[in-house]
Amino acid sequence: MTATILNGRELAKTMQEEISAEVAAFKARYNVVPTIAVVRAGEDPASVSYGKAIEKAFTGRGMGFALHTLPETATQDEIVALVARLNADPDVHGIMVQEPLPKGVNEAAVKEILSPDKDVDGVHPVNAGRLAQVAPVGRPPMVEPFFVPATPAGGLEILKRYNVSLQGKHAVVVGRSNIVGKPMAMLLLRENATVTICHSQTTDLAAVCRSGDILCAAVGRAKMIKGDWIKPGAVVIDFGVNFVDGQMCGDVDFEAAQEVAGMITPVPGGTGPMTNIMLMRNVLEAAQRQLKEKA
Ligand code: NDP
Repeated sequence: MTATILNGRELAKTMQEEISAEVAAFKARYNVVPTIAVVRAGEDPASVSYGKAIEKAFTGRGMGFALHTLPETATQDEIVALVARLNADPDVHGIMVQEPLPKGVNEAAVKEILSPDKDVDGVHPVNAGRLAQVAPVGRPPMVEPFFVPATPAGGLEILKRYNVSLQGKHAVVVGRSNIVGKPMAMLLLRENATVTICHSQTTDLAAVCRSGDILCAAVGRAKMIKGDWIKPGAVVIDFGVNFVDGQMCGDVDFEAAQEVAGMITPVPGGTGPMTNIMLMRNVLEAAQRQLKEKA
């Protein structure tokens, strides 16, 4: 069997067009540009390059982007003061604080300072808590609106747009970070999948992976998930971004996996291109909510 490729790059292009149209309609209605403020302290190369990618994505689709940089020596008080200023700025609709923050800065405390209404990265405990508490699809949500981290939101969007049925399926998520693994598991649970979360202490990871109708990998270890860890016909979502000999690869051994899986995201070209799309969508939604509240 050769798996169907879940083409995140193509899907991202389609969604860019959709978002452009929504942004144009929003601007026409409110005469406001939906804008993200990105905060970076220091010059971590991955953060610099991610910031540039966000700028390109946003400005290319008529959305606003403002970068606020602080030196590597920035203190917690300085970072908190900047975030507080952005919280209060009506021209800023979404805020992302890039990690890593300088040594000695309490990242959790900085997250808590963010206004949950502008936390378009879904890292504030209020947003994570609402995702954990939201009722399953098909029932009233029972929580106020919230933001989901962009990467797992993109993974779910791929599954939905390719009409993958999740209800009653066994979904295995490898990885439990607050930004990818855990929210992905919560999203799948909300879609009425039966979810198993794996991590570095999981016993017989291969066997657990093999039991998944849906298998999501968010580990950060190149090609760790082998072809024979995959249930024949399973749908595989690979969030991993790793480099081997200068080549980008995922957490799944793609060559072997595509012979077994029913559907699979490639790396690159799978979950990666969807992340900025979902971030744009979150910022647009934040702007819509904020402007509606004012009206
Ligand atoms: P973290 O390092 O925060 O989390 C990794 C998780 O993998 C942890 O829960 C860890 O377990 C688990 N893990 C580590 N080793 C093993 C192992 N041998 N067996 C089973 N589980 C293991 O990473 P992130 O969640 O931030 O990122 C995961 C991957 O996703 C990375 O490759 C990252 O680059 C990528 N990523 C991709 C994005 C995209 O746009 N596609 C965006 C963000 C991240 P434990 O909790 O026990 O330590």
